[in-house]
Amino acid sequence: MTPRLRLQPEAVGMGMTSQRVRDRLVERLRESGIRDETVLNAIRLVPRHLFVDEALATRAYEDTALPIGHSQTISQPWVVARMTEALLQGAPKKVLEIGTGSGYQAAVLAALGLEVYTVERIGDLLRQARKRLRQLGMNVRSKHDDGRIGWPEHAPYDGILVTAAAPALVNALIEQLAVGGHLIAPVGCSGSQSLVKLTKREDGSVQEETLAPVVFVPLLSGTLD
Ligand code: SAH
Repeated sequence: MTPRLRLQPEAVGMGMTSQRVRDRLVERLRESGIRDETVLNAIRLVPRHLFVDEALATRAYEDTALPIGHSQTISQPWVVARMTEALLQGAPKKVLEIGTGSGYQAAVLAALGLEVYTVERIGDLLRQARKRLRQLGMNVRSKHDDGRIGWPEHAPYDGILVTAAAPALVNALIEQLAVGGHLIAPVGCSGSQSLVKLTKREDGSVQEETLAPVVFVPLLSGTLD
């Protein structure tokens, strides 16, 4: 799959945001076990420094989560890569993300040529994410809502990513997953969370696999402006 990225001039950053710094991050992800070259290529192409505050741009290519305001974070690149890699194993075309946040994970999915739907409960974060995605020419459909109900109008999805942690997998989301698709989500409480990959079988039953220990902000109810 060829990433369809249309980068604006400011995205081809200089200094701490240069291609060399991005290549170094990709090498690091490879050393940490990310094997899927299409995923590594998408991470190389998407300008993560444009998804954080300017004051943090020099840290954008470190393999670390960073604050994005409203007590939320842009996920660590390794986590984005691992979740995307797991999602792609279901050969998806149409995918749903719960927790748009900065818009970075959605941008990585769009760079892979996927049809992306994303839901965010904090209006201010969603407005900023939409602006960034638009500036990069990325076609991502988004909605301001409590993502625990999913986005039923466009279901089923070939893959679903949840980027905030809940004590258990959300049933509405499992229902909106297509047969053969994967739902990737952090499950657990603040002290102990695991990344879980759920696969929906032909007969509607599900198979669960634990991928890695992770740290995510909580999946909360309701919406905020
Ligand atoms: N994928 C994001 C990570 C953001 S952190 C990125 O790439 O930057 C998790 C996000 O999930 C936060 O923005 C938080 O507001 C959002 N969130 C938490 N609970 C939610 C819910 N019930 N519905 C939608 N979004 C939710």
